[in-house]
Amino acid sequence: MGRVTPTGVSDPERSDSDSTGESRPVRRSTSTASVAAEPRRTEPRRAERPRGEPRRAEPRRTEPPRAEPTDDAPLTGTAPYGRRGLPEDAGVEPRRYQVVVDPSFVDPDVRKVLKRLVRSGREAYLVGGCVRDLLLGRQPKDFDVATSAHPEEVRELFRNSRIIGRRFRLVHVLFQGRKVIEVATFRSTPDSDGAMIRSDNVYGTAAEDAYRRDFTINALFYDLETNHILDWVGGMKDIQRRIVRTVGDPVVRFIEDPVRLLRAIKFSGRLDLGIEPDVHEAIVHCRESLREAARPRVAEEILRLLRGGQARRSLYIAWETGVLDVLLPELAALFYENDRDDSPGARAWRQLAYIDAKHQAGELLDDTVLWTLLLLEMLKEACEGHRDRSAAVGEFLEGLVERLAITRRSADGIRRIVATLPRLKSGKAGRGARTEAYGFALHVAEADRLSEGVRTRPRAKARDVNEVPAAEAQPVE
Ligand code: ATP
Ligand code: MG
Repeated sequence: MGRVTPTGVSDPERSDSDSTGESRPVRRSTSTASVAAEPRRTEPRRAERPRGEPRRAEPRRTEPPRAEPTDDAPLTGTAPYGRRGLPEDAGVEPRRYQVVVDPSFVDPDVRKVLKRLVRSGREAYLVGGCVRDLLLGRQPKDFDVATSAHPEEVRELFRNSRIIGRRFRLVHVLFQGRKVIEVATFRSTPDSDGAMIRSDNVYGTAAEDAYRRDFTINALFYDLETNHILDWVGGMKDIQRRIVRTVGDPVVRFIEDPVRLLRAIKFSGRLDLGIEPDVHEAIVHCRESLREAARPRVAEEILRLLRGGQARRSLYIAWETGVLDVLLPELAALFYENDRDDSPGARAWRQLAYIDAKHQAGELLDDTVLWTLLLLEMLKEACEGHRDRSAAVGEFLEGLVERLAITRRSADGIRRIVATLPRLKSGKAGRGARTEAYGFALHVAEADRLSEGVRTRPRAKARDVNEVPAAEAQPVE
């Protein structure tokens, strides 16, 4: 069975087992042109809560391991727009949809901000991820406002606000409890001739602002006063079809900004959305361009893949599209050798499932823990035969730290965690039991044990880190 479904999305959680014990990807159809919502999948069947029992949770790799570019075409495309403005075939009038969203999901302070902007005669909408999340029935984690008002005008309307940013100026409106609502002036399409974007600081209209956005599901504008969604790019249909599609030609959009590749994977993984076939193909085709992207941005998106509650599914999509071979070929290689339950690849999948289980339990893991878990099997391998584990880890991380833009704080933390792992796994706390790094190490030890099929939590003789008062917690460095 081919690994790539029409959506290009197949992952361990979307697999059925056949009688041979092999897993097979479930096909998700995207061919329908109707706007009828695709039946929402129920919660993933497994991997949410790693059990001690080793199980085959991942498909055996007997097929060509991952998607390959379909041709050797150069990585260019025709930019859909001129230097500034709308795509040539763009409609200036949006489609409007009347919607009903759960009012309790919308922050009352956001309503105030929008109302004041509109009352002052400006256009103002909720935009971006919060609209997408509301339409998918999810509580947005933050709210972004876009308006026709310029930053100085917004600043004048809200005494409790400040202008931030140099390249593109935004206004932060501040509320009690350190709440910040970000208000951005509509932006125009950035400079792009099929090359990477270098500057993007031109004000524009609402339509232009919609067209510059990455995916159609992220380009919807929500008018809270009328409960209308304004849609220039077909995003409502894609919400209903539950599909990730770029605004414009996917190759152009990915070359302009390769980080969008990772964002597509993130949205597909986190929100359980299909990826439109052309977009999937473009991800495969453009994956090498990720090498050109700013490393801190790539690092942040990798962390977001891990933090989103579907780390395992997201990494599977990254692996299946070959994106992981570009970012972290060492881990991709482990996943290829995933034919036994006790193989490092199988353990690595289960360590990712641990991250998701913690997310589901409402526990946020520190970035240092996330990096350690992502790299754990490789780190363990690097330590084999070395007495000085800390030095071995340091050596292993040398190249990676720069490649993945791992912060110094996290790199130091990873060294400490891996150095203490054997002691923790054998139930000895040792020195440093009251440090922050120790708390991190407990998580990693637990994930490691679970991934090996051991159910018990690592028990340390010292107090659990949760019992260490915050004031006593030590910084990692
Ligand atoms: P998340 O829930 O992960 O925050 P998000 O969609 O809100 O997802 P943000 O990074 O917060 O993502 O960006 C807010 C919005 O800005 C996006 O919804 C999208 O419309 C736009 N955007 C973000 N990054 C890009 C990009 N690289 N290219 C084009 N538009 C982008
Ligand atoms: Mg956001």
